[in-house]
Amino acid sequence: MNNDKVLEIKNLSMTYHTLDGETHALDDISLNINRGEIVVLVGPSGCGKSTLLSIIADLIEPSKGEVLLNNEKLKKSTKDVGYMFQKDNLFEWRTIKQNSLIGLEIQDKVTKEGKEFVEHLLDIYGLGEFKDSYPSQLSGGMRQRVALIRTLATRPNFLLLDEPFSALDYQTRLAISDEIGQILRKEKKTALMVTHDISEAISMADKVVVLSKRPGRIKDIIPIQLTCPDCDRSPMKSREAPEFKDYFNRIWKELDVHV
Ligand code: ADP
Ligand code: MG
Repeated sequence: MNNDKVLEIKNLSMTYHTLDGETHALDDISLNINRGEIVVLVGPSGCGKSTLLSIIADLIEPSKGEVLLNNEKLKKSTKDVGYMFQKDNLFEWRTIKQNSLIGLEIQDKVTKEGKEFVEHLLDIYGLGEFKDSYPSQLSGGMRQRVALIRTLATRPNFLLLDEPFSALDYQTRLAISDEIGQILRKEKKTALMVTHDISEAISMADKVVVLSKRPGRIKDIIPIQLTCPDCDRSPMKSREAPEFKDYFNRIWKELDVHV
């Protein structure tokens, strides 16, 4: 893997000002993400994880610091970023194919080639038969896959995923995190994902970033290396790697969940 930086976060701080006062959400965050890396962010509730993703997506302005995407300040390159939320936000009155095309419509890029790419993604990720179905006819896991395809359709090089699986039941969640991890690797995407689930973080990540409680500061950055010869970094099979438990215990301690 070549180590060119896709994302560079430099000394980022964020304070929200509201009528009730100030909330210091993030404090002096610096982080780099290299091309092809999947970085997973964990941290206590309210420590600023979604705030960080919103800043990177250029939805809100930081109070201090800077974010560079492909060596440029945000504004110009934001089309290169795809954002996937906790809720799938599918439109119930649109078919699966129509839902998958929304990103392209918003960017005014619905070309023949774009449509074919969406059809191709739906086919290879097991939704070919459901192109003309409506979201209500799909399982939670399939809906989440549609949300990912919608995000991939605009060919962003960098993906932000904010607790994308937390609305799913445990079984579905295991299966879909496995699938989506594989899709991200197959499509060679660079991604920053937030999760509450330590196992999910270890199994999907090249690097786990642990944030402290609010104001979120970087407490640790843990490169993940699993000995798992024939698992091909399948998130589900990664859990069988001998190092898994040590990573789990380290992150569990750092999250300090009892406090
Ligand atoms: P997390 O995603 O880690 O749970 P958030 O980034 O959503 O945390 O929130 C961090 C802190 O900032 C919380 O205390 C939250 O209440 C506050 N916060 C988030 N968004 C806003 C906002 N738009 N205005 C004021 N405070 C906010
Ligand atoms: Mg959040």
